[in-house]
Amino acid sequence: MNQSRQPDEITLTIEQTTALRQAFKYCPRCRTEMVTRLIYGRERPVCPDETCRFVQFIDPKVSAAVMAFQQEKVLLIQRKVRPAKGSWCFPGGFMEMGETPQQTAQRECKEESGFQVEIGHLLDVHYYESFRGSGILILYQGQIIGGTAQAGDDAKAVGIFAPDELPKNIVFESNLIALANWTNRENNANTA
Ligand SMILES: [Zn+2]
Repeated sequence: MNQSRQPDEITLTIEQTTALRQAFKYCPRCRTEMVTRLIYGRERPVCPDETCRFVQFIDPKVSAAVMAFQQEKVLLIQRKVRPAKGSWCFPGGFMEMGETPQQTAQRECKEESGFQVEIGHLLDVHYYESFRGSGILILYQGQIIGGTAQAGDDAKAVGIFAPDELPKNIVFESNLIALANWTNRENNANTA
């Protein structure tokens, strides 16, 4: 795992990103056929209409997740959808307009696990690339304050695990880093 990823290691080109994220064929404002032009330093889909000039910025999706604790155990959900169907991860998902990242993490946690969480401090801001394009995950620490385990939305199972009981098939680099930091701390505390 590599926490200090440098910008020059990012491999996705604008062409790949555009293809992945579906550039608009027609302008969503004025219906003129879009063209590709070099603008603000990159090839971008733009509307050639002189009065419209709409530019499609194909930018990263932003999501938020929470590493939520109940006593000394951590909450994970088992994914029911791709990517990584059947694997375990923190509850989380894409941000909606008008929502803070903390609210996203709380909402997703309730929808996927049935638990209400209080959001604590920021653990990580993680950049990733996937088949859908690039993204940013904002990961918080949290505390379970109510609710009962009930898998929903993108989750098919919910579990609360001690550091030595974690399931084998955990996904997403951000999740693995946070869990490794936590289990290392727990191990050090137990041997100190
Ligand atoms: Zn237009």
